[in-house]
Amino acid sequence: MPLIINKMKKSRPLLGFFSIWLLKGICFGFELNVFQVGQANFTICVVGQQALVFDCGSAKPGEWVDSKKKFKRAKETVIGNLLNGVTEVTIVISHNHIDHLNLAEALQKFCEKHRETHQVFKGWEIVKKETGEEQSMFSNILGEDVNVIPLLPSSRERLSPTEPHDNNLVLKIALRAGGPAILLTGDGSKNLLHSINPDLLCDIGVLILSHHGSNASDELVWFRTVKINNENRPVLYLISSDPKGKDHIPAYETI
Ligand SMILES: [Zn+2]
Repeated sequence: MPLIINKMKKSRPLLGFFSIWLLKGICFGFELNVFQVGQANFTICVVGQQALVFDCGSAKPGEWVDSKKKFKRAKETVIGNLLNGVTEVTIVISHNHIDHLNLAEALQKFCEKHRETHQVFKGWEIVKKETGEEQSMFSNILGEDVNVIPLLPSSRERLSPTEPHDNNLVLKIALRAGGPAILLTGDGSKNLLHSINPDLLCDIGVLILSHHGSNASDELVWFRTVKINNENRPVLYLISSDPKGKDHIPAYETI
């Protein structure tokens, strides 16, 4: 049964808090924070003095930033509390879609203001180049104890003769720290999801679904064909969306 984080507005703060607590418990040794940003994605993983931000968007950016694209005071406080003690921030944008990146500029300004070292990786540029250096590029961004595994689409997908679709140029990331892995999907296409190593799939404890729980994204087909429920995994599915948002997702079938 998936847990729909962004459905939970102010009226249900406890459930949102509980979700975050659950993630900490499952993942042994690191903390994954999933923000309520509507039909969009914004997650921050903190390990000691390092943080990985995977996607940084909101369906309603006006709730987060002012006219100068700086975080509003209340949001700055939230981010500041989360990044308290962090000195190194890595921002990874999975793909070139506004709902995954429209807060990135504000976050960079925040890091500059607080003098945190920060770097930004644009997933679509990394998958286009495919240099073979991707593993080392991410190897130490959360320290030695957390394995950060970049997952690239196959070259067949990436170099499709037809116009490349943004959803074919998505960088996904798996995180593992001794326990089951967390898979951060961005919005990958079905073929792209299929290209994930089956061994890794069997070891996924937490999955953030791509496409915000849409049933038009081939995700359901993917789940059925890869038998992702082997060994009762994933333990926890997360859908970052808002049923009252523009597409009214997650879909009933997905849930
Ligand atoms: Zn999206």
